[in-house]
Amino acid sequence: MIGGGQLARMTHQAGIALGVKFKLLAEGPDVSAAQVVHEPTVGDYRDLRTLRAFAAGCDVVTFDHEHVPTEHLRRLQDEGVVVRPGPEALVYAQDKGAMRERLSALGVPCPRYRAIVDEKDLSAAADDLGGWPLVLKTTRGGYDGKGVWLVGETVTAETAEIFMSGVPLIAEERVDFVRELSAVVARSPSGQAIAYPVVESVQRDGICHEVIAPAPNLPEARALESQRIALRIAGELGVVGILAVELFETRDGRVLVNELAMRPHNTGHWSIDGAVTSQFENHLRAVLDLPLGSPRPRAPWTVMVNVFGGKYPNMHKGFLHCMARDPDLRVHLYGKEVRPGRKVGHVTAYGVDLEVVRERARHAAAYLTGEIDE
Ligand code: ADP
Repeated sequence: MIGGGQLARMTHQAGIALGVKFKLLAEGPDVSAAQVVHEPTVGDYRDLRTLRAFAAGCDVVTFDHEHVPTEHLRRLQDEGVVVRPGPEALVYAQDKGAMRERLSALGVPCPRYRAIVDEKDLSAAADDLGGWPLVLKTTRGGYDGKGVWLVGETVTAETAEIFMSGVPLIAEERVDFVRELSAVVARSPSGQAIAYPVVESVQRDGICHEVIAPAPNLPEARALESQRIALRIAGELGVVGILAVELFETRDGRVLVNELAMRPHNTGHWSIDGAVTSQFENHLRAVLDLPLGSPRPRAPWTVMVNVFGGKYPNMHKGFLHCMARDPDLRVHLYGKEVRPGRKVGHVTAYGVDLEVVRERARHAAAYLTGEIDE
């Protein structure tokens, strides 16, 4: 796996049970996954020679992020490396402009958008897309809301700076959504696919805080439509591994695709404890062309809450309280140095009463970060 974050760490964890020999190309010797994988390779994923040397020892190469340059992946594939998902699919998770174009051509419901070259294009885009404000996005390299700006008619210093940087941009209509949903599916090279229950993802400032599985009060027809959209995208684009489709549920009852991720995704972490087969195991099964495991939930409700760096430099401090209070709670820490606002772990609770399950997960996360300390 290329990329040594918590996604690689949790994929490795799933691989241990399957006896998979897991190799890692990490950004540094101390990153989350490099702490736990045997003899990680440390190197730059943007460097073709590093990628080539790493791939030489692997039956299949996969990713914990989408930042490996597409042209390098094409090159590796031409040289016989098995890359899953392949660059022809991955490009749609790397480049939001390409993704919007392809999904629109497939007739998949998306926010309306326009490619933007300079500031002058903005007002024409606003006319086409239903007015101000617009959502301006860099087509590549954004994550956790970085690379996404809400822009109004008056050009601010911030907008001017974005255009000065010269990065490719798209503008989208601002969608009036009631909540964000996520449809996570896995697809194997032979075309077998499974769909996890559609979840609600609670975001603040573009960052996922909480995931509820399944999404409460989601009409069955809308849940099925969301799963169908995700399965269709996976099939049409030839995705291998996990595909997470982030969706907006609009006030008028539609679902629109916001973005795609082709790797295990934060909105699928609940599945480690809450589903029969976790997204990490299914990602591995898919890239290894093994039959996929059941995505069935273990309980009526599962709630995952992310743990962000807060008051305590050492998260273990909260273990005693959380574990004693709630023996059914599942805790996952990523070995990351605690810095304020950084995702350092998550907790999961499951059970039959959503309110109770959500309170348990929220309390544990708040306690670990120091938001509550009694
Ligand atoms: P990232 O790559 O950083 O995850 P996203 O495209 O998912 O970027 O956007 C981050 C957040 O910005 C979304 O979760 C959503 O809350 C908001 N957002 C993005 N696109 C739109 C849109 N077209 N209309 C309204 N809000 C949007």
